Amino acid sequence: MSQSASQHPDHLAPDTVVVSAGRPERTHDSPVNPPVVLSSTFFGLGEVVQGDRAYGRYSNPTWDPFEETLGELEGAELPALVFASGLAAVAAALSLVPAGGVVVMPQHSYQGSLALAEDLAGRGAVKIRTVDIADTEAVKAQLEGADMVWLESPTNPMLEIAELGVLAQAAHDAGALVVADNTFSTPLGQRPLEVGVDVVVHSVTKYLAGHSDVVLGAVVTSNPDLQAKLLTHRSLHGAIAGPFATWLALRGVRTLALRVDRSQATAAELAAKLQQHPRVEAVRYPGLPGDPGHERAKAQMNGFGSIIAIQIRGGSAAAEAVTEALQLWLPATSLGGVESLIERRRRHVNEPKSVPENLLRLSVGIENAADLWADLEQALEKVQD
Ligand SMILES: *Cc1c(COP(=O)(O)O)cnc(C)c1O
Repeated sequence: MSQSASQHPDHLAPDTVVVSAGRPERTHDSPVNPPVVLSSTFFGLGEVVQGDRAYGRYSNPTWDPFEETLGELEGAELPALVFASGLAAVAAALSLVPAGGVVVMPQHSYQGSLALAEDLAGRGAVKIRTVDIADTEAVKAQLEGADMVWLESPTNPMLEIAELGVLAQAAHDAGALVVADNTFSTPLGQRPLEVGVDVVVHSVTKYLAGHSDVVLGAVVTSNPDLQAKLLTHRSLHGAIAGPFATWLALRGVRTLALRVDRSQATAAELAAKLQQHPRVEAVRYPGLPGDPGHERAKAQMNGFGSIIAIQIRGGSAAAEAVTEALQLWLPATSLGGVESLIERRRRHVNEPKSVPENLLRLSVGIENAADLWADLEQALEKVQD
């Protein structure tokens, strides 16, 4: 929660910011990387107010450089707030809904976000209206009396594209707060705050940390009142980030631009090849010219991301068989790491039933593209009807 100690220039390109932000002050013999600070308490005398270091549940010096860097990447006027997980960040954002208030959510939101909202709804804390977030008019029709509009774009795992700026404006006109889960796109792909979104949430676990070795989350806002509420939520609910995990996340962010460039270039190549394969019934990837979200994604995103969803001919058994036959791709949940992961999403019992049984979600990593294709091709060939 401290302000930037270094005089970091504010005109730098995002692929410089990932490397240069959040560095310690340039004093003789000081380290170029921030240290990990392992202390549960901090020296102090007199009154403690919000924003003081004081105690390890309120803040930790290891959080600051990560929070400054992510805030800057999202184009926010305030540092981000790091949380113990993406879902802890989601919970903090949902806590901004007044008691019994209405949340409009994509029917294909991340299943954990939906499950949490449903849990809150089951206890009367909120009411949920689920919508097809790609259908702008259908969303607008649900806005009357809404307190919060939850945006996710592209959605997980259906890769639908929401019209972020138009929906943010319509939500504000209806008096609702707007939150966007920007995990899939990363701030290098789109900056929701710049098109009017109030709060951005991240599963830092995914692209930002990028190595499938930490679970972490974050929220970002430029609104001081909202930030104060989110900070109070973090301090009181206690879902705080460990210093080591946060340090690893900043280390991961340093290579974000390289990883995103590489993995989305490979994803584009693989999506085009998958579309030609007889075993593949359908491909969803916003970068494909025929994809329903293509034009919108082209207009509002910088790059199309590196998640592909495919449907396998032969149903869920054939889809499972493909994941089993792979030797390089890792059959595992999660996404956004350096290693390519693949998963049949309906293996999760909470996954919405509108996600097809035979849908595989591919998280393209940074391995050699020809090796990734060769492995997919041999696995697709191996499957029998
Ligand atoms: C993984 C994920 C989350 C939840 O984050 P965790 O770090 O697993 O708690 C939220 N939103 C999206 C889009 C995700 O992919």
